[in-house]
Amino acid sequence: LLAPDGGIAATIFAEMSALATRTGAINLGQGFPDEDGPVEVLEAARRAIADGVNQYPPGTGMPVLREAIARHQRHWYGLTVDAASEVLVTAGATEALAATILALVDDGDEVVTFEPYYDAYAALIARAGGVHRTVPLRFPDWRPDLDELASVVGPRTRLIIVNTPHNPTGAVFDREVLAAIVDLAERHDAVIVTDEVYEHLVFDGPFGGKHVPIATLPGARERTVTISSGGKTFSTTGWKIGWLVAPAPLVTAILAVKQYLTYVNGAPFQPAIATGLDLPDQVFADAAAALAAKRDVLATGLVAAGFEVSLPAAGYFIVADAAALGFDDGAAFCRRLPELAGVVGVPISAFVHPERRADTRSLVRFAFCKRLEVLQEASSRLATLG
Ligand code: PMP
Ligand code: GLN
Repeated sequence: LLAPDGGIAATIFAEMSALATRTGAINLGQGFPDEDGPVEVLEAARRAIADGVNQYPPGTGMPVLREAIARHQRHWYGLTVDAASEVLVTAGATEALAATILALVDDGDEVVTFEPYYDAYAALIARAGGVHRTVPLRFPDWRPDLDELASVVGPRTRLIIVNTPHNPTGAVFDREVLAAIVDLAERHDAVIVTDEVYEHLVFDGPFGGKHVPIATLPGARERTVTISSGGKTFSTTGWKIGWLVAPAPLVTAILAVKQYLTYVNGAPFQPAIATGLDLPDQVFADAAAALAAKRDVLATGLVAAGFEVSLPAAGYFIVADAAALGFDDGAAFCRRLPELAGVVGVPISAFVHPERRADTRSLVRFAFCKRLEVLQEASSRLATLG
């Protein structure tokens, strides 16, 4: 967590966005859309502010949002959730992760994640005093080896953190992988924490463009904390309205931590996200289709520029191998990319433990949640690399 000079190291996303601002390069680093989401959601927030929804809401979240989350789980996934006791609203998925990990992990407990992993997992596990163990996902198909998974989960495992659809790879875990995780969690009495912030941004993959929450598998629900956020689904990453759904005793334990992290979250944004969750299915399908078209534009551009790419089934990001272009150090490549081509990307090494960076050395993550003309311009700039 510390920079070499002993100061606090900025996250890779902050560093790369600052690089883009400084150089004027196209920012395909940090994942945030450059267009607003559904107008109904934006309007609902304006209305809430005008109507005086501007003071502390309840610590567990406003009933209107908790009920919309419960409805959403039932409508999309057939999961019956008690809005009063099994839902907790948080400051983005980030706070849901933080409160969950800090509440459930004691010194020396093992926490399993797949690797590469979203950077917050490693920082939070370290902060909680946990021991981070990882299961590798390998370019280009990113499917975990089930024997490797079984060898990493054991009696000391407290949490298994799942992230499907996955950041940074865009992989969607198939049913066999999900079932193996549930089986191991049951056998070793571990809690499953599943980060599903990209649940509505699925294009293809093992379930044909659908999202299958691990909590829907037999035996999973009673030991699973499901985390999501309005940020990705409604293109409101700056609102920081997230949530978790879990059995009541787990919610109570997590709330004990959450109440001293942020206490409560963004009152007027909560009814607005509730409005979004109740929008017709077609709105969700159209957003995913629009994003899939953007994926295809950037993938075509990257291939034409000479990268080897792994086509993501979901999410905001595509992983490209710069080795074919003669760059075998992704971190060095990303630092030079603004000057070489006027584009910013994020090295996959940022999502991997420093001791295991060799395997992913030349890989770079590019965000495609940008307007088509931005992706086309980025593609023509990248074409000058070869
Ligand atoms: N988990 C994953 C996998 C993410 O990609 C992100 C953000 N991009 C988050 C959590 C954080 O979500 P939020 O902004 O809602 O805190
Ligand atoms: N989740 C987004 C990404 O992976 C943004 C992360 C952040 O800014 N912390 O790029």
